[in-house]
Amino acid sequence: MRTLTRTRLAPAVLAALLPLAAIGAGAAPPSDDAAYDTLAHDIFKQLIEIDTSDSSGNVTTAAEALAQRFRAAGFPPADLALLGPNDRKKNLVVRLHGSGAHKPLLLIGHLDVVEARRADWSTDPYKLIEKDGFYYGRGAIDMKDGDAVMAAALIRMQQEGFHPSRDIIAAFTADEEGGCCNGVNWLLKNHRELIDAEFVLNQDDWSIVAEHGAPRIAHLIAAEKLYSDYQLVATGPGGHSSEPRKDNAIYELARALMRLERFQFPFELNSVNRGYFESMAREVARGQEADDMRAILKDPPDAQAIARLSHDPYNVWITRTTCVATRLAGGHANNALPLRAEAVVNCRIFPGHSKEEIRQTLSKTLNDPRIAVRYIADDGSVSDRATEERAMTPAPLRPEVVKAMTTLAEATWPGVKVIPSMDPAASDAKYTMAAGIPTYTFGGVAVESGDVRAHGRDERLAVAEFYRWNHFYYRYVAEVTAH
Ligand SMILES: [Zn+2]
Repeated sequence: MRTLTRTRLAPAVLAALLPLAAIGAGAAPPSDDAAYDTLAHDIFKQLIEIDTSDSSGNVTTAAEALAQRFRAAGFPPADLALLGPNDRKKNLVVRLHGSGAHKPLLLIGHLDVVEARRADWSTDPYKLIEKDGFYYGRGAIDMKDGDAVMAAALIRMQQEGFHPSRDIIAAFTADEEGGCCNGVNWLLKNHRELIDAEFVLNQDDWSIVAEHGAPRIAHLIAAEKLYSDYQLVATGPGGHSSEPRKDNAIYELARALMRLERFQFPFELNSVNRGYFESMAREVARGQEADDMRAILKDPPDAQAIARLSHDPYNVWITRTTCVATRLAGGHANNALPLRAEAVVNCRIFPGHSKEEIRQTLSKTLNDPRIAVRYIADDGSVSDRATEERAMTPAPLRPEVVKAMTTLAEATWPGVKVIPSMDPAASDAKYTMAAGIPTYTFGGVAVESGDVRAHGRDERLAVAEFYRWNHFYYRYVAEVTAH
C-alpha cells in the first residue's frame, strides 16, 4: 500500500521525483539536479585523478577523499568507517540512517581500477579529460562514475533530510579488479555487522546497450556465473619418433577434446533466465523466436524450441554451464614421441553447481582413465580435486527493485526495455550472493554496442550519460527505500 505518510519522502525528494519523465524528453531537470551534477562531476574528477591501480596506486587515498566529502556534508563521524587489511587497501563504509522499518540496503562500488599506461593512451589516463562529448580517464565507466554517483546521491539525501524506510549503507571498496585484498570479501569476513543488509544494489556495470545511438536494452543483472579453470593432462611413454606407437599423448588428448566439443551441459532455468525469456518474448522477440522463448518456459520445456534457440550463443550460455578449450601444449622435441600433452579448459558454471561437480562431469564426459582432469586455482596452483565453491542460485527478483528500475529507466532512456539478466563474468556480487544477500547489478549508462573500453585504452563515457545516471540513481535508491 502506498500512502503519502508512509513514503517518508522529504518534500525536496518528492519534487525531484515527479518531473523525471521529462528528462528524456529534453525538459530542464529540477534545479536541485544542477547543484548535485556539479558535485557528482567534482567527485568523479577527483577519483579519476587518484591512481587506485594495484601496482602503482593507493585505494586508501580515494577512500579518504570520499570520507572528507561525507564529513563536510554533515555525516557524523560515527556513521563513517575507514578500514582495511593494510594502509593501501582501506575501504570506506558510510551509513545514512532510516526509520528502521526494514533491514538495511547495501550499495557497493569498487574504487580500484585496472592498470593504465600513459604510453598506450591518447590522453593521460589519470586526468579527467572532456573531449568530443565524452569523459576520458581510467575508471570512466569501471567504475568511478558509479562511485561518484553513489556518493553524490547519499550526500544529497542527507542534505535534503530524506528519511528512508531502512538504513542505506554505501561501501566503497578495494581490489575488485585483482590484488591481495578484495574489500567486499574482507568486510563480510571481518565486519559483517557494518554492511549487513537485506539486499544489495551493485553499480559495477554499464548495463544499457545502445545501437546507432539509441538505447535498446537495460540489463538488470541478478545472477552471475562462476569462473573455473581445469587442466586436462595426457601422458605417454615417449620414445623415438621413428617408431610411432598407439599410446600417443597428443592423439589421446586430441580425442578427449573432440568429445568435449560435442558435449553440452543440460538446459536449466532459474528465476533470472526465466525472467529474461519472459521479458524478451513479450518486449523484444517476434514470430518463431518469441514462440520458442515461451515454449522453453513450459514444463517440460520444448526440446525443439531449445535446439532452435541454441543457434544464438547468448541463449546457450545463459541456460547452461559452458566449458571450452582455451590453451594447448604438448611434446618436447620434433623427433620424440610426446611424454605429455595438456590443455586448459575454461568453464562458466551455471548457478547451483560447484567447481568439483563440474570437474567430475568433465572427467565422465571425456571417459578416458588416461586423461587426468585437474583443477587450476586462481593463483595458478593445480590440484586433483576442485573446491566446493558454488555459483549461487539467484533469489527471486524483488518487485520494488524491478518496478523502480523499469519506471525510471523507461523515463530516462525512452524506448529502452528492462530485461533481467545473468552475467557470464563475476563481480563483487559473488561475495554478497555467497553471503546470502540477494544482489542486483545495474550501471545506468548507455554504451554503444562494441564500444565498451573498460580495462582497455582510452576508456570513456558519454558526458550526457554521466548526468542521466546521476539523476536516475538518486531517484532509484530513493524509490527503492521509500516504502
Ligand atoms: Zn568493475
